[in-house]
Amino acid sequence: MIRRHLGWSFGLVGITLGLCSCAENKVGPDRVATAKGECKMKVEKESYGKTPDGRAVDIYTLTNATGAKARITNYGAIVVELWVPDRDGKLGDVVLGYDKLADYIKDTPYFGAIVGRYGNRIAHGKFTLDGKQYALATNWKIHHLHGGKRGFDKVVWQAEPVQTGKAIGLKLHYLSKDGEEGYPGNLNITVTYWLTNCNSLKIEYEATADKPTPCNPTHHGYWNLAGAGTRDILDHELTINADKFTPTNDTLIPTGELKSVEGTPFDFRKSMKIGARINENDQQLKFGGGYDHNWVLNRTQSGDLELAARVCEPTTGRAMEVWTTEPGLQFYAGNFLDGSNVGKGGKPYKHRYGFCVEAQHYPDSPNQPQFPSTILRPGQVYRQTTVYKFSAR
Ligand code: BGC
Repeated sequence: MIRRHLGWSFGLVGITLGLCSCAENKVGPDRVATAKGECKMKVEKESYGKTPDGRAVDIYTLTNATGAKARITNYGAIVVELWVPDRDGKLGDVVLGYDKLADYIKDTPYFGAIVGRYGNRIAHGKFTLDGKQYALATNWKIHHLHGGKRGFDKVVWQAEPVQTGKAIGLKLHYLSKDGEEGYPGNLNITVTYWLTNCNSLKIEYEATADKPTPCNPTHHGYWNLAGAGTRDILDHELTINADKFTPTNDTLIPTGELKSVEGTPFDFRKSMKIGARINENDQQLKFGGGYDHNWVLNRTQSGDLELAARVCEPTTGRAMEVWTTEPGLQFYAGNFLDGSNVGKGGKPYKHRYGFCVEAQHYPDSPNQPQFPSTILRPGQVYRQTTVYKFSAR
């Protein structure tokens, strides 16, 4: 199944980066090692087609030492497939996506992509920086969302396979030019996906700019730990390490308040089914059509990776932890999915068939000075690490 694209006329270029040792990490998100079985990491590259303007696009299959696999294309830096074991060791593809490049080009709600320069919304597409007003592309109602009309999810990135003793990876680079979608300055961004031998998908970001600019990229994977396209995510059990969230107005722009989750359907400090309270009569839930909000993560001041969320799926036993260096987590329950996106294997992605947990800064930060700053200045280096760590019980 994983190899179904081999039938295409483009052929396969296999790059086996060598054998590895089943190294275990002892701390942080990779502290529980699950490595077993054949100890062989590899990356294989295939053509994934062409963009309408004739640019060649590839897809890379990364296999770790345990047999888990990620398929990643350099169009939009999209994770097309991610195969991780359930409690019986059976691999399942836990990300929503499409079979073909053409489907991503035609219509995608950002399935599996890196979004930016600014993940999430900037009100009216406007902000003032160092006294100058900037106007960004508006692509969601009256607002700017996920980088605009042609954000990082719709461009071709340069890709290079990478490897360490513990992980197999793909390093992606993109130069976002001065003025792109209205943003100031040339932004050089590198995103490296690592599939570790402990079954984590680790994402490292690094960016520099030659003018001050907002920079807030994130990964926009839609997860379903029961398997993409199988059913909705309402039975998934979610914990979010946050005492507060940022309420929004009716167009999902934060009001500026950091509100306690206590006594609200937004309290996920103890594990709770996503569906338990999603349809409650709550004004914030109405605005989002369900959960579509930023949680203010409980963090120490270390700037290190810290646990943001944990999700468990009871029927398969699959679990996913999210670790990040970021201050916020957008939890979106797939409320806008309506079955019109027909995904891999011809399966329609219906209402709430996938959820997103996007590590990032708070939405609309460039207009909300009380929020942590998202401005990257020349001479500074933007860095983010976010880890999606899989296990099964
Ligand atoms: C946003 C949603 C949006 C979805 C797809 C999420 O990050 O919070 O409001 O519908 O992305 O665009």
